[in-house]
Amino acid sequence: MHAVIDLLYAARETIDAERERCFAELMDLATVRHPRTRARLAASGLARSDFASLADLAKLPVTLKTEYMQDPDAFRLDASGLPGEMRTVWDVMYTTGTSAGQPTPFVSTAYDFFRILELNRNMLRLRGARPDDVIANLFPLTAVPHGAFIRALHAAASMNLRVVAALPGNPSPYFTLGNDLDHVVDIVARSRATLLWGVPSFVRRVVARAAEAGADFSAVRLAFVTGEGLPEVARDELTAALRRVGRPDSWVSISYGSTEIQGGMVECAPGSGYHNPAPDQLYLEIVDPQTHLPVPPGHSGLVLLTHLKRRGTVLLRYALGDISVLSRSRCPHCGSWTERLVAMPRRIDELLKIKGTLVNPDVLAQAVEAILGAREFQFTIEREPSGDRLRLKVAAGPDIAGLAEAVKKASGVTPTVEFVAFDAFTAGWKLKRVMDLRR
Ligand SMILES: [Zn+2]
Repeated sequence: MHAVIDLLYAARETIDAERERCFAELMDLATVRHPRTRARLAASGLARSDFASLADLAKLPVTLKTEYMQDPDAFRLDASGLPGEMRTVWDVMYTTGTSAGQPTPFVSTAYDFFRILELNRNMLRLRGARPDDVIANLFPLTAVPHGAFIRALHAAASMNLRVVAALPGNPSPYFTLGNDLDHVVDIVARSRATLLWGVPSFVRRVVARAAEAGADFSAVRLAFVTGEGLPEVARDELTAALRRVGRPDSWVSISYGSTEIQGGMVECAPGSGYHNPAPDQLYLEIVDPQTHLPVPPGHSGLVLLTHLKRRGTVLLRYALGDISVLSRSRCPHCGSWTERLVAMPRRIDELLKIKGTLVNPDVLAQAVEAILGAREFQFTIEREPSGDRLRLKVAAGPDIAGLAEAVKKASGVTPTVEFVAFDAFTAGWKLKRVMDLRR
């Protein structure tokens, strides 16, 4: 067995050397056993010998999410003849939100699961988890296996921490153990949780309810949030709310998570950027969204993910669908040399056609965020007999003027504005800002 190296706080050269070793090992397998890579090499006349180092990775074309969704089996390594841990399927998670409503399987072998535990552990280390922490897992259960709820439990195991799953909500009529908001608040209080982990919209509701009910959240010192964008003004509000009910030095650590990572890139301090928690497992690139050519260091572009150490589903130069900026300099906060995304990743969604006008969903969300700050909202696009309808639902509270005008100015489409209870939002495990309900 290869000696275990702690790469998180290793020198740049140590990280690079270990990555090259993992890349060589993976390419030995992928060029023979990975259907997608074999097809790509055959089409371009390339062979294993063309990939001497990671610098040659760019010879492979970018893989788009749609390509993975159309044929997930082509991205699974044929592990026959390899050691049992590399062959045995440990679990399958699903990416959500395909336009056809069909979830895409992401398969992990036992070997991969051991790597996921290492990755989860490093996420906790970067975020400053301590041996005496108690995690409140505030992710809802989902109707298909999904990383958020499940991996939070595994993360606790990876660092030998205590965890309590609050099981909010009901993902299915066949599920009977869901808890309402007051129960969730009780569970956090009586378990003396120090660390709240969930999507920001729900963590915010739990903290607000705790303040109203006078629940004892005095042990809380950290919130880990993921899955939804959190503008800085909203982070500031959540931090202030945490400090009112919890410890006076509480803070909020944001993660850029995805099924394809089986975890997330995390902040070690507010505004530190999102650290790659396992540089031996994940390699990141930034390319031009149109040409797919590398952008100069420090420039923004499409984020590509390459798996360096997996044996189940393996993705090479895979476009996660977000735009950000990569830094390979040492983190000034924690001293790690692992790379960081230093701009909040923003989705490049497909444009939506609403009432004949092409609209960027991100532009819709940003126009309203600028006015509402931390207040929750959601756009839905619905098909009605008279044509498309753009609805903007805003969490109940004081009326706010100018919303419809701001959206019209930004996008060319005028929404109807409604003030609604939180339950009126259309939500899965996270609150999507723009939901196209016409399909
Ligand atoms: Zn750091």
